[in-house]
Amino acid sequence: MKVLIAIKRVIDYNVKIRVKSDHTGVETNNVKMSMNPFDEIAVEEGIQMLESGAASEVVAVSMGPDQCQETIRTALAMGCDRGIHVSTDINLEPLAVAKLLASIVAKENPKLVILGKQAIDDDSNQTGQMLSAILGWSQGTFASNISIEKDNAKVTREIDGGLETLNIKLPSVITTDLRLNTPRYASLPNIMKAKKKPIDTLTPEELKIDVTNRLSTIKVVDPPTREAGVKVETVQELVDKLKNEVKII
Ligand code: AMP
Repeated sequence: MKVLIAIKRVIDYNVKIRVKSDHTGVETNNVKMSMNPFDEIAVEEGIQMLESGAASEVVAVSMGPDQCQETIRTALAMGCDRGIHVSTDINLEPLAVAKLLASIVAKENPKLVILGKQAIDDDSNQTGQMLSAILGWSQGTFASNISIEKDNAKVTREIDGGLETLNIKLPSVITTDLRLNTPRYASLPNIMKAKKKPIDTLTPEELKIDVTNRLSTIKVVDPPTREAGVKVETVQELVDKLKNEVKII
């Protein structure tokens, strides 16, 4: 079974986001970028499938500027077999990513595509669902456990009331939730080995996908700053403040 993993290069989750002074977006120049954390979980899951024999090949795909190749190298150092980079300087919307992935699926013929449940930069949580709709494949979103059994996948999903377990038919699109696994660190020998693993580069034009943006951002602003707290001297003062100053939303 070939598995395709979609990995996005995003601003590292430890970085304090700065809004650009012209309010057109957030500053990405000279900012540390990393693999989207949910995609690291997707990579780890793919590699565990390789190790257990459930998968025969795991291919990591990233779309965006040339620096995405660094993100692909990280996935290769973790254990993916090869990479595909779709090179574009356009800021891709989820629909464009889903269409590009669908066209790669047509070329590569995987039985399973694993994505993160959401990218932490745009928080869209759309790409996996759109991909499954475009392909007409089953989907298991927000997976906290996956087991592959012949032509089916058992996917446990975290939902409001507890855990839901689905039995879905392969081929399928699965998106990862936080508790699915703990991604490994790449070891130094594996980082060296990853340098020799192949990365193919494609363009949206070669894949015949129109990636023109359909949405325009009106304005990006910082969240309101929190007001400083005050210390009260007595319980009575606290009760007064709770009664008279706390706004019930
Ligand atoms: P989103 O729908 O934007 O929240 O993204 C959900 C998932 O889609 C991510 O966790 C990735 O697995 C995948 N994805 C989104 N954008 C890209 C991209 N530019 N390249 C590769 N995968 C992506």
